[in-house]
Amino acid sequence: MATAATLKPGVEVRAKKLLINNEWTDSVSGKTFPTINPATGEEICRVAEADAADVDKAVRAARAAFEKGAWRKMSASQRGLLLYRLADLLEKHADELARLEALDNGKPYFIASVADLPLTIACYRYYAGWADKTEGKTIPVNGNYFSYTKHEPVGVCAQIIPWNFPLLMQAWKLGPALAAGCTVVLKPAEQTPLTALRVGELILEAGFPPGVVNLLPGYGPTAGAALARHMDVDKVAFTGSTEVGHLIMKASAESNLKRVTLELGGKSPNIVFADADMDEAIEGSHQALFFNQGQCCCAGSRLFVEEKCYDEFVEKSVARAKKRTVGDPFDKNTEQGPQVDSDQFDKIMGYIEAGKQDKASLRTGGKRVGDKGYFIEPTIFADVKDDMKIAREEIFGPVMSILKFKDMDEVVERANKTMYGLAAAVWTRDITKAHAIADSVRAGTVWVNCFDVFDAGAPFGGFKQSGLGRELGEYGLANYTEVKTVTVKL
Ligand code: NAP
Ligand code: MG
Repeated sequence: MATAATLKPGVEVRAKKLLINNEWTDSVSGKTFPTINPATGEEICRVAEADAADVDKAVRAARAAFEKGAWRKMSASQRGLLLYRLADLLEKHADELARLEALDNGKPYFIASVADLPLTIACYRYYAGWADKTEGKTIPVNGNYFSYTKHEPVGVCAQIIPWNFPLLMQAWKLGPALAAGCTVVLKPAEQTPLTALRVGELILEAGFPPGVVNLLPGYGPTAGAALARHMDVDKVAFTGSTEVGHLIMKASAESNLKRVTLELGGKSPNIVFADADMDEAIEGSHQALFFNQGQCCCAGSRLFVEEKCYDEFVEKSVARAKKRTVGDPFDKNTEQGPQVDSDQFDKIMGYIEAGKQDKASLRTGGKRVGDKGYFIEPTIFADVKDDMKIAREEIFGPVMSILKFKDMDEVVERANKTMYGLAAAVWTRDITKAHAIADSVRAGTVWVNCFDVFDAGAPFGGFKQSGLGRELGEYGLANYTEVKTVTVKL
């Protein structure tokens, strides 16, 4: 378990204010809020708290930057160069950023170093490359006209991000928006503002003009809601719960029909056939659920295992979970840190209770670890039925539910019986089965014999109530542009 001696992150917290128009500023109200170290429950520092008045200021700065000034006149390749510079600065400060991420979020520092940081840096580089490569078309219209399309930036973008991958979610949002030529007001999650603000310092160092990127730490129902209903915001991009996703869309509908992209929750089916490489399927399914303390929108949280190998699979998965090391995020052997805050901790413990009440079979875990911070034992329920609460709702924690199935038709039908459609996976040596699952499961991403394989070039997003639009890749960029048709009489 975490001890005071090993909880030294070796990192100084620098930026704690709002970033508006390239200046660090207190909030209009003068209010601040605490950000907590989830490994101890102690306050790290206080951060300026944005609300509606700060949103107005930031949107004005973003509007001015969008309509006039250096950013507006800048060539596309120059925008790309600024993004490359930002990526280089992130790389230079990668160790510091990984430490700060681990401190504020609770994720293991080692994981932040080998996963979050490289993916974040790669995302900025990927979109840097796109900046001068978004081309329109020439259209052979009827009559004596020359018609062509341009992909113009959508304008001032509000971006509201969650706490599970703070640096990476910031990159998924800023990368395509800036490559497209938009300006941004971004609100990090209240639980994890620190790395977003440190990146703000690096944005200034890279040389982005004033007003292009504005950062507003604060709360969702105040600062977030003010962004979503603002009349001068052209687009809102949101990642978080499906519940808040509905609110964001409603706010757009009731204000100015700003464009909306949503990356929401999931209850992703992870399907294991008996002909799979068992060791790979067991380890892959373990990571698919427990990675990032189970706090992944695409977690393989409905684990369907074929009847023929069910007992063996459960037994070996339990043995693996018992070996998972839980503790100090700054210990290099730690696989699992604390949940992000006390709300999430309580919510997850509530789901564990619901699993027991519904008579799912608790095979390991189920309890708190230690007496401070928000650590939870890796938990496995077997004999889970489709109608149980733990099989229907997003738990967002280290709780695996293993369900049994007999054949392909049955598992496809059950896999699709959900309001979500973010991701799915299948483990099999039979290429026909793999393609049949990929073809019939309604989800934005299907992994075959792997899980959580992300790349800045591969689009990600949800079917059904898991979201709207795609992030990453060329599709992600398209969501930050408007298509303009120009027709000229010849
Ligand atoms: P959440 O409330 O959806 O938070 C996501 C972001 O939206 C945060 O920046 C949040 O601000 C903001 N927000 C909250 N209410 C808002 C509103 N009315 N208008 C505009 N923005 C608003 O998620 P959460 O409460 O942190 O977690 C709850 C559940 O959501 C989790 O248990 C999990 O199931 C799901 N979740 C999904 C993802 C994902 O990657 N898809 C990520 C996180 C959580 P503040 O946090 O600062 O208040
Ligand atoms: Mg925190």
